[in-house]
Amino acid sequence: MPTCTTHKRCHPTYELAEEALIGAHIAYSYGAGSRPVGVYQCDECGYYHLTSKGEFNARLKKMLDEGEIQKQKEANWWEDKFKGR
Ligand SMILES: [Zn+2]
Repeated sequence: MPTCTTHKRCHPTYELAEEALIGAHIAYSYGAGSRPVGVYQCDECGYYHLTSKGEFNARLKKMLDEGEIQKQKEANWWEDKFKGR
């Protein structure tokens, strides 16, 4: 796993970072202010990181607008129940 001076998690491609961004929104309930909204390429390490500043990721925005994130959240919730976690 590559490391970066920003101590953020590094993602090798934009696509993987975008997956992680969307996955994070499904896994966690973010309050208004402190959530990751986009992906950027890092000057320090050349990999991609998530960021809470800057432009809202178009795919994430679409999924939030269409309620897709919420739907997946609920799906995960049931999955967890069945696994007994
Ligand atoms: Zn970096």
